[in-house]
Amino acid sequence: ALLQPSSPAAGDDPLPYQDPTLPTAQRVSDLLGRMTLAEKIGQMTQAERIDVDADPSLITTNALGSVLSGGGSVPASNTPEAWADMVDRYQRAALDTRLGIPLIYGVDSVHGHGNLLGATVFPHNIGLGATRDPKLVEKIGHITAEETRASGPQWAFAPCVCVARDDRWGRTYESYGETPRLVKSMETSIDGLQGKPGQLDHADRVLATAKHFAGDGLTSYDESAAGTGAYPIDQGIDRVTRKEFDKLALSPYVPAIKKHHVGSVMPSFSSTDFNGGSTADAVKMHGNKQLITGWLKNQQKFKGFVITDWRGIRQLPGDYRAQVKAAVLAGIDMYMEPIQAPNNPTGWDEFIPTLTDLVGDGEVPMARIDDAVSRILKAKFDLGLFEHPLTDRTHIGDIGSKAHRAVARRAVAESQVLLRNKQRTLPLKAKDTVYVAGSNADNIGNQAGGWTLTWQGGSTNVVPGQTILDGIEKAAKGDVVYSVDASKRVPRKAVGVVVVGETPYAEGFGDVGGPQWAYDPGDAGQPRQKQTMELSKADKQAVRTVCARTVSCTVLVVSGRPMIIPPALLTQTDALVASWLPGSEGGGVADVLYGRSPFIGKLPVTWPRTVAQEPINVGDKQYNPLYRYGFGLSTR
Ligand code: BGC
Repeated sequence: ALLQPSSPAAGDDPLPYQDPTLPTAQRVSDLLGRMTLAEKIGQMTQAERIDVDADPSLITTNALGSVLSGGGSVPASNTPEAWADMVDRYQRAALDTRLGIPLIYGVDSVHGHGNLLGATVFPHNIGLGATRDPKLVEKIGHITAEETRASGPQWAFAPCVCVARDDRWGRTYESYGETPRLVKSMETSIDGLQGKPGQLDHADRVLATAKHFAGDGLTSYDESAAGTGAYPIDQGIDRVTRKEFDKLALSPYVPAIKKHHVGSVMPSFSSTDFNGGSTADAVKMHGNKQLITGWLKNQQKFKGFVITDWRGIRQLPGDYRAQVKAAVLAGIDMYMEPIQAPNNPTGWDEFIPTLTDLVGDGEVPMARIDDAVSRILKAKFDLGLFEHPLTDRTHIGDIGSKAHRAVARRAVAESQVLLRNKQRTLPLKAKDTVYVAGSNADNIGNQAGGWTLTWQGGSTNVVPGQTILDGIEKAAKGDVVYSVDASKRVPRKAVGVVVVGETPYAEGFGDVGGPQWAYDPGDAGQPRQKQTMELSKADKQAVRTVCARTVSCTVLVVSGRPMIIPPALLTQTDALVASWLPGSEGGGVADVLYGRSPFIGKLPVTWPRTVAQEPINVGDKQYNPLYRYGFGLSTR
């Protein structure tokens, strides 16, 4: 009987599920009652755009419920119109199915709609944590939602509500900070993305995702992984007691669910091991029924749906059938299973028949499938997709607008943390002659970091906006001399600004001692450097040169986490600023440098003296950092 479809009525009267005046729950159950098993499993399946772009009829024939843009997977012409056309093209294929269930399109809008060229690129979360300004973070969420939805996608895989405990982790910058309290305070971002309950169907809101559930920022450094090609921290094991896990990993999800009503949750690639036992005892989050069904769905009464991370179920033990079974029974509702040949020879084309068999053989109960599909359908009804499946482009002209960039610029200014200011070096005077140097002074790709145009980001990824140098040139009334390596002559009585820091990376690629890859196209075929928290030789040399030859020198650190400032270098430095990853509006840094806005940022993470001090966090028994959590001088 389950496989017997009941056809939608051909007449004028809408079926109950098509009737927007009926309560959502009623529409969901009406629609569910009409669906075949194949249609239900289709709803649980998410493909990557590359899998369907050449032939969107795959969406129709497989009744796919969702499509995503993995980091940097963008239409050939990376414009808002091309994005909206692309999503609408896939949507039409979904509407061509028997029941006309619209698809939901997801994208990593983790600091603005960073994949879209011309979007406003906000500071990464670590900088937003430094602002301690939840209202501003809500506003940023709203703008992100507006720019995302106006170009098609109705779903953002954001925010990361991880509590980052070890700065060697390559995703530290996706975190608002090292304490659950700070992270929770910034979950206003969810309100910005989704609006108030009932506003998800507006043209300027998207469904949000709290990720990565849970404990992604709590994994311990694995010495044995260094050099093996595995990441020492990312996707590792949380070796903590259940009590610590509750506090540092689970607690941010309580307000995300109860106060902010987050629409979806993404499990983490990491594992838990509450017994402190061997690696073999560790349980991967994608198979953790106790936490996904027990804690999240039953205890916290989470009403949204759970979406896997990229091929996340493939980390579970056993063959593919065992993996699918474990994940579905653990409580995961939707499956990000891209094909993307030749790297991933199989994906959703394997998932669909596997789950179909499991249900047929009675190993996965229909009730579990119905629970998953009901949750997904509820989100689609809430988003208004049944009434307005195609992109509402009302706000498309506001993407990257002056008003949006002004908010980003304010966020940049508020996020700057003044760590040292000898004899009031800062603010600079407009009439000063300024000598600017360092690898990150005039590199917008480095300022934007990972998840910008491409997954890993890249030094060569140029997005429209202003670099820090541009901002200084606009603000200065005196001469500005720029020399990346400080090789140009320093004018008499000049003050110096040296902008040092990291090159972009994402996920495990930023783990200290992690593998070196030439994989991501973001850096124009250049092999990615091994990421460390140490400053590069060239940057250190630039600091030494500029500080020796100027009246006063200011060092700005553009990075996704604290970097190690050797004592001798610090002594030479008059002013030191943590600038984080400011994004497209780097000019906001000049606002605080020149005193147009005060420095108000506070450290969202502890700033260590050496890498060996990691992990170092406020509350540690031994706590002797260079700058403590919450530190930040003010010029207000
Ligand atoms: C990341 C997620 C992201 C997903 C989709 C994964 O590699 O861990 O945070 O949402 O890719 O791009």
